[in-house]
Amino acid sequence: MEQTFVMVKPDGVRRGLIGPIIARFEQKGFTLAAIELLRIDRLLAEQHYSDLRTKPFFGELVDYLTSGPVCAMVWQGEHAVENARALIGKTNPVEASTGTIRGDFAMDIAGNIVHGSDSAASAAREIGLFFGKQPVSSHPLDLYASEQGHG
Ligand code: UDP
Ligand code: MG
Repeated sequence: MEQTFVMVKPDGVRRGLIGPIIARFEQKGFTLAAIELLRIDRLLAEQHYSDLRTKPFFGELVDYLTSGPVCAMVWQGEHAVENARALIGKTNPVEASTGTIRGDFAMDIAGNIVHGSDSAASAAREIGLFFGKQPVSSHPLDLYASEQGHG
């Protein structure tokens, strides 16, 4: 089972889209392994998007990511990275197909509401950045069962 890092960006949180985005991942068949609502500081935003630091839009991207709370999540399943990217849709919502999250809920590349890791290596790096201080169970359903006293 693979894990991927997904984040509802500040515009998605502001627009009340945490629920609909979670629903898409659950309906697809993913299992939620970790979730946290947090405010990102500029350092974390810069680290998260370090591969884009030379792009002309980098400053605005960091402004955008730090403009309000985000919802950081780890989703688990078969081919989780590729399945999540397919569910999220193309980077530019103008090009994202209807039926994808960005295709259905976003209009502009600078406000595309959700992030998903682009490779297994990126997923591991991003999960470490956001959830490194706390354990991310590789058996989330077992974890839920034991917490409810059924395990
Ligand atoms: N972005 C932007 N302008 C661009 C390209 C990207 O504002 O011309 C932002 C957008 O929020 C995008 C993020 O930078 O989601 C990361 O870009 P990437 O190419 O990694 O796209 P993604 O992996 O999010 O589809
Ligand atoms: Mg990317």
